[in-house]
Amino acid sequence: MESLTNSRDSALRRRAEAVIPGGMWGHMSTRHLSPAYPQFFARAEGCRLWDVDGREYVDLMCSWGPNVLGHHHPAVEEATARQRGLGDAMNGPAEVLVELAELLVATIAHADWAMLQKNGTDATTACVTMARAGTGRRKILVARGSYHGAVPWCTPSLAGVTAEDRAHIIHFDYNDVASLEAAADEAGDDLAGIIVTAFRHDLARDQEMASVAFARRAREICTAADAALILDDVRAGFRIDLAGSWEPLGVRPDLSAFSKAIANGYPLAAVTGNDKFREAATKIYITGSFWYGAVAMAAAIATIETLRDIKAIAHMEAMGAMLRDGLSALAAKYGVSLRQTGPVQMPLVLFDDDADLHKGQLFCAGALRAGAYFHPKHNMFLSAAHQESDIARVLEAAEAGMIAVADSA
Ligand code: PMP
Repeated sequence: MESLTNSRDSALRRRAEAVIPGGMWGHMSTRHLSPAYPQFFARAEGCRLWDVDGREYVDLMCSWGPNVLGHHHPAVEEATARQRGLGDAMNGPAEVLVELAELLVATIAHADWAMLQKNGTDATTACVTMARAGTGRRKILVARGSYHGAVPWCTPSLAGVTAEDRAHIIHFDYNDVASLEAAADEAGDDLAGIIVTAFRHDLARDQEMASVAFARRAREICTAADAALILDDVRAGFRIDLAGSWEPLGVRPDLSAFSKAIANGYPLAAVTGNDKFREAATKIYITGSFWYGAVAMAAAIATIETLRDIKAIAHMEAMGAMLRDGLSALAAKYGVSLRQTGPVQMPLVLFDDDADLHKGQLFCAGALRAGAYFHPKHNMFLSAAHQESDIARVLEAAEAGMIAVADSA
């Protein structure tokens, strides 16, 4: 695989190594990806990205979710420019706070109220704290392998985490009713809540939609125990159903956590809740220096209204179906067997007999060099900015990746 030793990207990586631990942290580190991946980007527009060496890509990650309308969407940029001209971080929130809370309550089916934060982890952690404050109990049921954020109660790395941080977490298997029931039995009369992602989107594993039986049982257990059903809609929110990702299943949570797509790339998260948890939400103390910034709130209002007005989810589904069909046709043409799982607008492509992801990395590196930014093991994201011509371009690039996989066999 090529390494970009004389590139601007590699020069930035070398400088970063000196002043940033490990050169880069978190989910955006390219350390586990093919060396063909750029670490640094210069510019983005719609669903296109340009790396610091000037290469252009059709983007299938959308900043790992946030850019649901595409970069620089005019409605969002106008709303944020207007609010920026008035004020952003002031001594108290602007009018847009109340407008956004009203919009969330009107849009999210289970919501009687909303509170805002910055990151998804803020929102999931707030939900867990509200569940405990509202019930006076401690145990939280969490699906094994589900991602809920990067703080001690839920971070995937155990470095720096104590057993006490996890003392009241009980695991179950996603979509497995018997294991959920066993976890609830173990919690007994100390059950504060169940937190669950909208669908199973664990890293490097086929995605699975939540089964109706599983979602209903989670609801029944929480209702019977007076505990909180928490939907972690950080990743799927605003891409499956604007009213909440479990609306199509007919199951309503007590608390939901949103972030990522809520403000088209501006930093914002939200917890929505029903009246049962209003008092708990009032009692707990959560805040942050930047949680009241008005610009991101203006962005969220424009984002949600635009998603609704342009029927963005139906568009993303159509583009996702075109991508999925096109990739299946390419796989058949080159005799490659792969699996495409989850909602079409949040695609994941995994290859058969590829435990070490060698084929996935080959495919992605080939597609990347030909101008499409895929990910080998994390679900990808489409946006309202993707048009048929962009998907056609992605499929051209994917053909290069598919040939690389076929040739390696
Ligand atoms: N929950 C889910 C399902 C997520 O996908 C993420 C982010 N990947 C989080 C929580 C945490 O969000 P953030 O990174 O904004 O803290």
